[in-house]
Amino acid sequence: MSARIAALALLGLLSACATPKPVALADPAPAQRAWAAACEDNDEWDKPGAPLRIHGNTYYVGTCGISSILVVSPDGHALIDSGTDKGADIVLANIKALGFDPRDVKMLLMTHEHFDHVGGMAKLQAATGAPILTTAEAAIVLRTGLPGHDDPQSNSGHPSFPPVLGKIIELDGVHDQLIGDTTFHPMRTPGHTPGAMSWSWRDCGEPTCVNFVYADSLNPISSDGYRFADHPDLVAGMRAGIAKVAAAPCDIVLAPHPVAAAMRARLLGDKPLIDQSGCRAYAAVAAGRLDKRLADEAAGG
Ligand SMILES: [Zn+2]
Repeated sequence: MSARIAALALLGLLSACATPKPVALADPAPAQRAWAAACEDNDEWDKPGAPLRIHGNTYYVGTCGISSILVVSPDGHALIDSGTDKGADIVLANIKALGFDPRDVKMLLMTHEHFDHVGGMAKLQAATGAPILTTAEAAIVLRTGLPGHDDPQSNSGHPSFPPVLGKIIELDGVHDQLIGDTTFHPMRTPGHTPGAMSWSWRDCGEPTCVNFVYADSLNPISSDGYRFADHPDLVAGMRAGIAKVAAAPCDIVLAPHPVAAAMRARLLGDKPLIDQSGCRAYAAVAAGRLDKRLADEAAGG
């Protein structure tokens, strides 16, 4: 592991700035308006959308339908999620369009091991030379390009994707990761997949410090015939992950599918961009879905 990617205790590091108040964008920036004009909710996964600064040092560089998040620093950048293999071309073009060099990306992070979010990781690794930091469960999927056997959607016909041949650093899900002065705090949030993670970081770029949470898809969907009730460890992990997201310091919540966190409405100023209740609301939706799923299974659905 390089000096720039060092394990770091989080405690004591995140109290430097005052908590921002909930605030909607009264006058969305041109880039935010442009993205919202080009992209619809639930839009196509490989449809290009122009990149934009969300806040401070944090940028959205994904497609209209799949998120990819770039966090920049003078000491190197972190990139979370690749999109599909095809979508990764758009991600790379968006990074360049912002004036950043993909070779300055020093750390590739990810949420969950499905082709629509990590299918382009091999391409991004080739373009950046950066290691991928993920869970052991997700690492297996990255190295094969095939859905995991223990994935609730393992029989859903997900396509394969180019396997990752380069460096993968397996995380324990506890230790923080540092680039520049930004600390990335991992949260294991299994359930949608066994190896899923969510990430939080504090962005003290202009104009104020905010806590970001990139909350994974906490959605209990599966192939036909799969019963979450038959996998109590996965369900317990999912409940624990939902609780972590709900409790995380959270001013801006993002999600692998932008619509899941109402990103378009928030970029347009129709909903608050900065909203301390965002993670709790996101977690409440996930908990409700899991409860319904288990109730439906119990009822024979
Ligand atoms: Zn998924």
